[in-house]
Amino acid sequence: MAGLDPAQWDEIRALGHRMLDEMFDNISAVAQGPVWQPPPDAVRQHFAQAPLPKEGRPLEGIYAEFAESVRPYAVGNRHPRFMGWVHGGGTAQGMLADMMAAGLNANLGGRNHVPVDVERMVIRWAAEMFGFPVDASGLLVTGSSMANFIAVVTASRAMAGREIRQNGVAGQNLVGYAAETAHGCVARAFDMAGLGTQALRRVPVDADYRMDLSALRAMLAADRAQGLKPFVVVGTAGTVDTGSSDPLDQLADLAQAEGLWFHVDGAFGALARLSPIHAPALRGMERADSLAFDFHKWAQVPYDAGCVLVRDPALQAAAFAQTLDYLSREDRGLAASAPWFCDLGPDLSRGFRALKVWFALEGFGTQGLGQVVARCCEVAQHLAQRIGRTPSLRLMAPVALNIVCFRVDVPGADDLDTLNAELVKDLQESGIAAPSTTRLGGKLVIRAAIVNHRTTERDVDIMLDALLALVERRLVLS
Ligand SMILES: *Cc1c(COP(=O)(O)O)cnc(C)c1O
Repeated sequence: MAGLDPAQWDEIRALGHRMLDEMFDNISAVAQGPVWQPPPDAVRQHFAQAPLPKEGRPLEGIYAEFAESVRPYAVGNRHPRFMGWVHGGGTAQGMLADMMAAGLNANLGGRNHVPVDVERMVIRWAAEMFGFPVDASGLLVTGSSMANFIAVVTASRAMAGREIRQNGVAGQNLVGYAAETAHGCVARAFDMAGLGTQALRRVPVDADYRMDLSALRAMLAADRAQGLKPFVVVGTAGTVDTGSSDPLDQLADLAQAEGLWFHVDGAFGALARLSPIHAPALRGMERADSLAFDFHKWAQVPYDAGCVLVRDPALQAAAFAQTLDYLSREDRGLAASAPWFCDLGPDLSRGFRALKVWFALEGFGTQGLGQVVARCCEVAQHLAQRIGRTPSLRLMAPVALNIVCFRVDVPGADDLDTLNAELVKDLQESGIAAPSTTRLGGKLVIRAAIVNHRTTERDVDIMLDALLALVERRLVLS
């Protein structure tokens, strides 16, 4: 695609307007369609077999293929009755910001341009939102998996000494702690950092799925007695299975007393700090040495947009910065404006994620986002109450925030795990609603996470009505 001539510009402009209009139609009508539909075999085959193109072809044909074969078969998280995993709903404003970011095609690894200042601004805003010092260091990344990884690497280097960058972690005997309920990406961060998953000690939780601090103290003492070197404790604000949060304030005290780095995984839950009703449950999060969270979940920014914050700005740079001749920093010209974001994590080239984050924070405001959080939690409470009133349903965990774990429990059904798993697949394939599943205490449960700003009480009612109709049908058939 060389430069376009005027006639080609007219053509692409007209097509672009149509594409944009059709996407607005698609987003504004999203609730009228199915949440999800299984991708047809023919579509799967098409993409599995499409040959590598040798000659280019006009955009119109490529777009037609997208409209027919891709757009109808996306995961469905924009839909108000998507309740699986923890997915944000996105916004039309976010789409526009992302389009303009691509139009600028800025590379935010570093250098002297204002897109970098926009990212510095949203990092400063994030620090303020979560009670960190305004000079905290931070980086926009793909998601909390990457943010947790960067935090674990930063913590290990801050605690064991920068020499491990040259010598590796072998023989350091570093160990860290997270509750059994911590997200799998924390163990993967230990794995990728070369610490090994065995070095992440899993602390038992209490009946409310919060880390048991007396168990943590005992594990720390046992590990120290064996000559191991505890360096980090990871608390979670909003666990992925049930939405519970660890006792963060007490964890901060313990980390301070024990000389540990205190990291918080607040992937979705950190945003609850913006709701005056829910903020008290996260007290202590602002004392963390580092925080991982996502803008693409509760903040409704289109995928992908996660963030890591590090309280002491020198320590994040100390963990990642390199000096490379071809990346030298200058006092003026395009190579000025240090520090550069490429010094704060593994990526050199980085896109302009900050633009869509700016648009979302400015568009909702922190109060608006706090209201989104509070509304989602109200909808979750409504769901929990209906479950409580329905004899064939059982609530399986306390509802701390926006996640409801329950299951169908009917007399005569012998294998409840299978029944509930099948019902969730039925529901997903019906297109009416899409919760997912998890396991609690060995039992398979249905899990509904309310993360989308479009979801209302009516949506969870429709989901439950559809579920109960499916139960009826299965029991009549069996
Ligand atoms: C979603 C989630 C993650 C992983 O975040 P990604 O953005 O998917 O990488 C980590 N921890 C918790 C608690 C989560 O909910």
